[in-house]
Amino acid sequence: MLLPVASGSTPGCRGPDGRGGVVIGMTRRQFVLASALAASGVQASRSTPIVDTHQHLWDLKRLSLPWLPTSGPLAGDHRLEDYIREADGLGITRTLYMEVDVAPEQHEAEAAYALERCGAPGSPMIGAILGGRPDSPDFEAYVTRFRRELRVRGLRQVLHSAATPQGHCLQPAYIAGIRLLGRMRLVFDICLPAPFLDDARQLADACPDTRFVLDHCGNPNVQEGPADSWRRAIDAVARRKNVACKISGIVATARRGAWAAEDLAPFIEHCRAAFGPDRILFGSDWPVCTMVASLREWVTALQRIVAGWPDDERRKLFSQNAVRWYGLSRLLSGSAA
Ligand SMILES: [Zn+2]
Repeated sequence: MLLPVASGSTPGCRGPDGRGGVVIGMTRRQFVLASALAASGVQASRSTPIVDTHQHLWDLKRLSLPWLPTSGPLAGDHRLEDYIREADGLGITRTLYMEVDVAPEQHEAEAAYALERCGAPGSPMIGAILGGRPDSPDFEAYVTRFRRELRVRGLRQVLHSAATPQGHCLQPAYIAGIRLLGRMRLVFDICLPAPFLDDARQLADACPDTRFVLDHCGNPNVQEGPADSWRRAIDAVARRKNVACKISGIVATARRGAWAAEDLAPFIEHCRAAFGPDRILFGSDWPVCTMVASLREWVTALQRIVAGWPDDERRKLFSQNAVRWYGLSRLLSGSAA
């Protein structure tokens, strides 16, 4: 069962726990939201079904997250039912699980956790980007385990920590691992600090047969505005045709309680101009976005920013590019179920 595509005529899935009052055709919350969106002129863009290519989940009974704060919005469990509740009425029809930086010894447990949720009844999740260490000696054995698993669409290692300084992903063993992903038709999501963006360019050059997704618009800081150095680095990465850009994550760097869609727009428009309409795709980065914005606030802000784009460009951003870049068509047709 899917989440409701629009605020229209079907109640859709209310989540596994079945809670929530559904009135005929539209919940009260959907009605209020639809009214607000219509008033703000973004109603038309809401009819675009959304594929969320960056959905985190964690259940601390199953996985331990060494980096997780003990207080604040990210503390505690963030489960699929929480996401479904928060996504209610937003038009998110499909999602991809994004790895959550567990310790390497938990990568297989994380993969099992994610794949259990792909295609389960009531789940919008259809595939996963798993965690891994491309430069580890057992990487080939690890990733080959998923060779026949169509629901595994890619791999990521966050390159933010002290253990992964600038240049880490350019070492020969790392490049060999990323080339292997290309041979396996798996995407590498590259997530690094903005000052390291040239690493992404060099890695893309070194691995021309691997598809990349640059996470979070290259991780600029919204509060600082779009720096010239970020713009130039994005332009250079975008010239590599094997890289797409994920429109995600940036809201988490905005000022909590004092941000507006207009603060995000220059970053998104620059990525659109650099990568073009066929290589940008949406990700929620939930629940990380909730450090600053609810899922609803982020999606609504993005819809407002792109409200003036041509319909076909909005469809590419919100779903079509994700299907093409991550190779989701067989999953969507159900042939892999
Ligand atoms: Zn994330």
